[in-house]
Amino acid sequence: MRQSPAEIEQYQAKRIHELLVYAVRHCNFYRRRFLAAGLTQERDLTAENLQLIPVLTKHNVQESMESLLATNVNRRTWRQNSSGGSSGQTVMLMQDATYREEGDATSYVSDRMQGWDFGKRVAMLWGGPQDTRSGRNIKDRVLLYLSNHRLYDSFDMNVPRMRRYHRNLECYQPDSIVAYSSSAYLFARFLLEQQLSPSYPRASIICSAETLTQEMRSIVEDCFRVPVYNRYGSREVGCIASQCKPGSGLHTHLDKIVEVLDLKTATPVLDTPGRIVVTLLSNRALPLIRYDLGDIGIRTSKPCVCGVNTPVLEKVLGRSSDFIRAPSGRLIHGEYFTHVFYGRRNVRQFQFVQESPTNFVVRVIKSGELAPAQLEDIRHEIVAVLGSSANLRFEFPECIPPLPSGKFRFTISNAKLSLEA
Ligand SMILES: [Zn+2]
Repeated sequence: MRQSPAEIEQYQAKRIHELLVYAVRHCNFYRRRFLAAGLTQERDLTAENLQLIPVLTKHNVQESMESLLATNVNRRTWRQNSSGGSSGQTVMLMQDATYREEGDATSYVSDRMQGWDFGKRVAMLWGGPQDTRSGRNIKDRVLLYLSNHRLYDSFDMNVPRMRRYHRNLECYQPDSIVAYSSSAYLFARFLLEQQLSPSYPRASIICSAETLTQEMRSIVEDCFRVPVYNRYGSREVGCIASQCKPGSGLHTHLDKIVEVLDLKTATPVLDTPGRIVVTLLSNRALPLIRYDLGDIGIRTSKPCVCGVNTPVLEKVLGRSSDFIRAPSGRLIHGEYFTHVFYGRRNVRQFQFVQESPTNFVVRVIKSGELAPAQLEDIRHEIVAVLGSSANLRFEFPECIPPLPSGKFRFTISNAKLSLEA
C-alpha cells in the first residue's frame, strides 16, 4: 500500500531525530555545531529544526574529518571511500555496513522503478579507474558475473572500441544499460551515424552521474527505442533520486532528506533552482547532515502523477562533465580526471582544462605540500590516457573561479568535440 505524504514525513522525522541525537552523542563536530545553533537539548533535535543547522561543506569534511567520525562504533565494519565529486573537490569519507546495506536496497528500488529486476542482464557503460582498471580483484569480477552485470569501460570511447562494444552487446543482449549520461549519448550518436540499429537493450536505459539534457535523451531514445530513465546520485551518499518514468521528476529515496536551498538566502525553496543538500539517514560512521553536494536542482511542490508520494526533484541542473579529446583523437570521459584525484593527499581542489588539441592544464589548489613524486604520479596517470604527445602543464592557483552560473566544472574542454577519430 502506498504511504501518504504525512506517513512519509512522520517516518523521516523519526529517523532525522535518531540521527541528530546520535550525532550529538558521538561526533564532536556536531556537538559543537548544534550548540552554536542554539540546539542545546536532545528534544530540540527535530526535523523542524534541521534547517537551523549550518550546511556541511566539502571543505568542512576535509578540515574536520577526525571530529566528524563517530567515536563509539566498531570501526571494523567501516570502509573508506573518496569522491572527486562533480565540483572537483576531493573528499574522503567513511561508510559503515548499514550504509552499504541500505544503499544496496535503495539501488534495487531505483533499478526496479526503471525496468530492471532480479536475474535480468545489465550492461554498464561506466567506470572509474577503481571500477574498471587492472586493479580489479577476483571478488569483484565474480560478483559482477553472479549479478549478471557486464562492464564496458566508458573512459575510452574511441570509434573502434565503440564498434567492438556494439558487436559484444548484440551477443550479450542486456535487458538494461546503465551509463554515464554523456557516454550513452556519445554511444547513441555513434550508432546513429554509422546507421547501426541495436537490437538491445530489451527493457531500458538508465542514465546517471551527469545531467541528462533533453537533447541527449532524444538522441538516446531515437537510437535504442526503449524508455530512457534518469537517476541522480553521488559517491558520497549513493542513489539520491530516480525517475519513475521517462521525462518525469525524480523521486527522492527515503533514506535521504533532500533540501534545495535558495542560492542567496540558503533557505529551503520549491519550484526554483537552488543548492542541493542531502542528509544521509543511514551512515553512522561519518554522519552527513545537510551536506552540500555542489549541485544545483529544483524541488517541486507538485506531486508526481504516478501516485507515489515521496518528495520529487523536478530537475538536476548543474552536473556535466566534458569529454576530452587526446592528441591521438581518442575520446576520454571527463570523469577520468576526477578519478585521478580520488583519495590524493593535500589536493583541495582541481580542474583539468584542454586548451587546444595538444595543450592541457592541470590546476591544483594545494592543502599542503605536494611532493615531486606525487606530481609525477598524477602526470603519469594523465599521460597514460592522453599519450606522450600531450603537453601537460601544472598550475597552483590560490583559487579557481567558478563559471558565471556559479557552477564549478572540474573539466573544461576548449577543443571542439567531434566524433571523427
Ligand atoms: Zn512518479
